[in-house]
Amino acid sequence: MRSLSMFARLLIVSLSVILVCVAVLSGLTYTYQKNSVIDSRMDALKTQARDISYLASRLSMDSLSNSDLDPSAVEEYINWKSRRIYDDYDAYTMVVDRTGKYYIYYLQDHLREDTQKTVPSASELAEYMNLAMQGEEVVKQTQSSDGPYFTVMVPWVQSNSLGTIRTVMGYVLIQTAAQTVHAVYQDMIWQTALAAVGVFLFAAAVVFFVAQQITNPIAAMAKAAGQMARGNFDAKAPEEGGKEIAELGRSFNQMSVQLGSLEQSRRDFVANVSHELRSPVTSIKGFAQGMLDGTIPPEMHEQYLQVVVDETQRLAKLINNLLNLSRMENQETSLAYSHFDLNEMLRRVLISRMTQIDDKSLDIDVQFQDEACFVHADADQIEQVAINLLDNAIKYTPAHGTVTLITRPEGDHIIMRVKDNGLGIPAADAPFIFDRFYKVDKAHTVGKGTGLGLAICKRIMERHNQQIRLVSGENGAEFEITLEKGTNPGGTHGDTGAGKN
Ligand code: ADP
Repeated sequence: MRSLSMFARLLIVSLSVILVCVAVLSGLTYTYQKNSVIDSRMDALKTQARDISYLASRLSMDSLSNSDLDPSAVEEYINWKSRRIYDDYDAYTMVVDRTGKYYIYYLQDHLREDTQKTVPSASELAEYMNLAMQGEEVVKQTQSSDGPYFTVMVPWVQSNSLGTIRTVMGYVLIQTAAQTVHAVYQDMIWQTALAAVGVFLFAAAVVFFVAQQITNPIAAMAKAAGQMARGNFDAKAPEEGGKEIAELGRSFNQMSVQLGSLEQSRRDFVANVSHELRSPVTSIKGFAQGMLDGTIPPEMHEQYLQVVVDETQRLAKLINNLLNLSRMENQETSLAYSHFDLNEMLRRVLISRMTQIDDKSLDIDVQFQDEACFVHADADQIEQVAINLLDNAIKYTPAHGTVTLITRPEGDHIIMRVKDNGLGIPAADAPFIFDRFYKVDKAHTVGKGTGLGLAICKRIMERHNQQIRLVSGENGAEFEITLEKGTNPGGTHGDTGAGKN
């Protein structure tokens, strides 16, 4: 059973249940019909026996009272009636008197002899004969030497002239071979069996159809899952069938789309990492080789060694970024929430970037609405976001440009913006700017970017359940993050820094 398909199982189980139900119902119907045929046959015979018993008692009374009723006419009538009983029910009739003497009024010749053997002398009937003699009506199935018989016994009685004393004079016995009754309901076996087979075949066809409806989409889904396991994420499951199956199909297809894009981004990621690692390694190797084999003259070694150092730094930065991203995605470290002054933190970051700012003669515009701006977040992680955004602003803004830092409360939140008037980000690139390794212009990223900075910012803000977005603007680029408002842990404004400039 375990190795059978779901379809076969459903079919076997349903058909077995249907088969048992049909068999039980047919059996019950047959038994009920059989009993009702026997009962009605016996009732009919009893009625006939009562008629004859009446006639028999009239006959004996009349013979006693010497009335003018012609006894032979009554006998003739009993004889005629017996014949009708024989013709209609295949049963023979006897009138038995108190002494055990019996009269067979009508019997076909070939039956007469058989009957002689079985009639009242049959020992198993003795008990019922006694009952009949006590005035009771008896219906019994008995076994005689040539098979089962149904016997009906109805006593015939005589009353005195006043009708006060009733004496049982004998009984009327009608006997019929059980086979003749059986023959009536034998036909029913076939009718019932035929009806049962019909019902079963119809139910089997319905079950077959329904089982197919249920299992076909599942089989198709299993096939699609198999293809997906082999890496084909285009495999689709049917979204049809019963409500739950169709829903399963839809969920399966959604899952396959997501797995497909996940697989695609995994491949892109590996390709990007390899690409990002290869270029610095290639240049380091090239310059080192050139210095070793003399292609680069000794007087230029210092210059090229600087390039080697820069490339090594870029490699180290890339690896650090990758590690950070992977740690965040695996949720390895939990956030260390604290209340801190965002303005103070931004001033520190600015001071640490003074060299680059001075090199490009950039103008820094600090627009802090309040002296101090307390937020509730992981200070190190938010500093990382600020550094990434500020570094980008510095990197992508030409000399003498302006970089603006803004902080202000807004509702429940603190808004921080980093804005520049540099290259800006084309609208077409905006939706992908936070993707890993995405760079707007591959050519201008000689600026030695890795394409991971904004992806890290996005992940950090997501972990804080806060927003980061690119504010659409025509001149330069502007990024905004939201932060949860914090409280001053020291109870006073902690601003000691540069203030507005
Ligand atoms: P990268 O290390 O390359 O700067 P990021 O993820 O920080 O990586 O940025 C992704 C890309 O977004 C950059 O390559 C750059 O093309 C673009 N970008 C980011 N910030 C700015 C900005 N302030 N001005 C113009 N372009 C930007």
